[in-house]
Amino acid sequence: MNVRKPTAPSSTSRLTTPVLIVTMFVLALSACVLGLVVWKGYEARQNALAQSETEMRNLAHSLAEHASHTIQTIDVVMDDLVAFLRLPSHPSRQTLDARLREVADNLDQINELVVFDANGNIRYASLAMPPSINNADRSYFVHHRDSTDNSLQITGPMLSRHSGRPIIALTRRIENADGSFAGVVIATIESDYFTDFYKTLNLGPDGAITLAASDGRIMIRWPSAAEGKDLSNTVLLRELLPRGPQGYNVETSPFDGLVKYYAYERVQRYPLLVTVARTEASVLARWHEGIRSDALVASAMLACVVLLAAVLAGQLRNRQRFEAILRERDARHRLIDANIGDVVVLLDEHGVVNFMSESVEAVLGFTPDEMVGRVYADMLHPDDVAGVRAMGRRLVDAKDGLRAEFRMERADATIVWLEANFRYTRQNGKPGNHIVCTLRDVTRRKEMEDEVDALNSRLAELARTDGLTSLPNRRAHEDFIEDAFAAHAQLSVLMIDVDYFKGFNDGLGHQAGDQGLKLIGSLLAGAVAAIGGHAARYGGEEFAIVLPGADAEAAMQLAHLIRREIRQLGLANPASPAGYLTVSIGVATRTAETNDPATLVRDADTALYQAKRTGRNRSVAALVHVADAVPLAPRADAETAPSTPEATRVPNA
Ligand code: GH3
Ligand code: MG
Ligand code: MG
Repeated sequence: MNVRKPTAPSSTSRLTTPVLIVTMFVLALSACVLGLVVWKGYEARQNALAQSETEMRNLAHSLAEHASHTIQTIDVVMDDLVAFLRLPSHPSRQTLDARLREVADNLDQINELVVFDANGNIRYASLAMPPSINNADRSYFVHHRDSTDNSLQITGPMLSRHSGRPIIALTRRIENADGSFAGVVIATIESDYFTDFYKTLNLGPDGAITLAASDGRIMIRWPSAAEGKDLSNTVLLRELLPRGPQGYNVETSPFDGLVKYYAYERVQRYPLLVTVARTEASVLARWHEGIRSDALVASAMLACVVLLAAVLAGQLRNRQRFEAILRERDARHRLIDANIGDVVVLLDEHGVVNFMSESVEAVLGFTPDEMVGRVYADMLHPDDVAGVRAMGRRLVDAKDGLRAEFRMERADATIVWLEANFRYTRQNGKPGNHIVCTLRDVTRRKEMEDEVDALNSRLAELARTDGLTSLPNRRAHEDFIEDAFAAHAQLSVLMIDVDYFKGFNDGLGHQAGDQGLKLIGSLLAGAVAAIGGHAARYGGEEFAIVLPGADAEAAMQLAHLIRREIRQLGLANPASPAGYLTVSIGVATRTAETNDPATLVRDADTALYQAKRTGRNRSVAALVHVADAVPLAPRADAETAPSTPEATRVPNA
């Protein structure tokens, strides 16, 4: 039968599939983790920006309030002073100077408080040693002299002519009672007052705080000075402030060219504004730190995933390889199972069938499923059960297993002969608790063996049978007498020879001779059948009869009977003086001295010779061997047979 090997997927696709799956899995997982990190990072960035915006807006508001209060306090003092100076009478210069000094000492933000007269000379001052300076050329002085505007003017930064330090000047016009120009009152705030405060606020590297006039002129900037720079040309001044007093934006700094986030707010009541700026790097510094550690954790996780995936892929690959090997092995087993004639059986220790190969169907006509679970001995032919059980008991000690032949009934109720080889399963060199058995259908061989046996026994029978008379031949006679001699102390032998048979043949023909021999043969067979004797053709026209258990008398009686019956056949023999076919018989009976069967036969033969010598057609009994034995008188056995001479007894030779 041409059985094709079961097709399997190509080994390359089998091996790449798990790697592909794992790779896809790792990529998908990486994408998920990456997506998560990016999403979380984006969210954290937005949060950081939003938080920073809130903080910076709050800070801008606080600083605007700070500036407002700082100036407002001075504004109130100057307002009182201006009102006081409009009065017609003033206290002495010493008194007012002392008062101004007291005010300046009480308010930290005031550096100097000075009243200039209409010519720009110092009239009153908070200074202990007022310098002799003239400020008529200062821009604020010119402004107040030339304008009737009574509001507070804020100018700066400029260098103090007294201390030489940078200051911001707050100035008001003083008028006489008639409204004419009477001078200027000035309060100075050192720039350091603001910057000392601003520097306590941590805005990160490149962060900055700016206090500017509403038109963009810079009053205070921390940390770096801003000579020659102003905000007049920025988006803040041009677009944002016209829209509202506070806000938040990103813009390139006009000071250092860096992109910065900044919050701004107008100072209430005064033409000032405050900005608080931070670089993106410092706004997002903490976020950067967070994203770095997140990325580190994600990378570690991904590395673990990739490592696990590599291990998994390896395992998958191994598993697939093993599965392929098992599949191939299974297919091979099935192929063998389906194509061998032998049946493989697995029995447990109780003789219950655990497994039977598919080939059982061809042998027994049952499917393996019908056999599994049955007790093995129950399936045997009843006559074979004991033998197989006995073999089973010997099996434990049989190293090479044992062979047995037995019969089983097929599904169609016919009998099958099986040759079986039983063997205990072995595990690590020790007997396991299962028995493996192979069964082979030997029914045909058994039939052939039976046929051969029958032929052989037929041949053996033929080899011991005389072809003409169908009597046992001389070999059979010898075997019989051997056995009888061993078994019987009482035993007699008759040797029978046809008289003048050559003449019979010559006269009537060979075929008639054969016929005569046949008739005599069947007559002899009939004569011994009932008494357990054995008649054989001894050779030619000579016959022998063995009579187990017969004494001399019984033997002689039989001899007499035989001679009479042959005579009664009435076969004419022209060569015989009697005119009929007759026989001479020598009879010998076993005595204590008869050593062996051959002696007994020889005695009978001697007696026969005597019968011939004394005239034929008679029976002669042999004499016993012992020297002092009294010879028996010759005894006639032919009374009924006319012309038959009396039987005689001859001494043994
Ligand atoms: P005696 O009375 O002394 O026995 O004389 P006899 O002629 O019988 O003895 P002999 O030994 O001279 O001759 C035996 C004859 O028996 C010779 C042979 O032709 C014949 N004979 C032997 N076997 C057969 C046989 O199977 N068939 C036939 N037809 N004749 C046989
Ligand atoms: Mg003869
Ligand atoms: Mg003869």
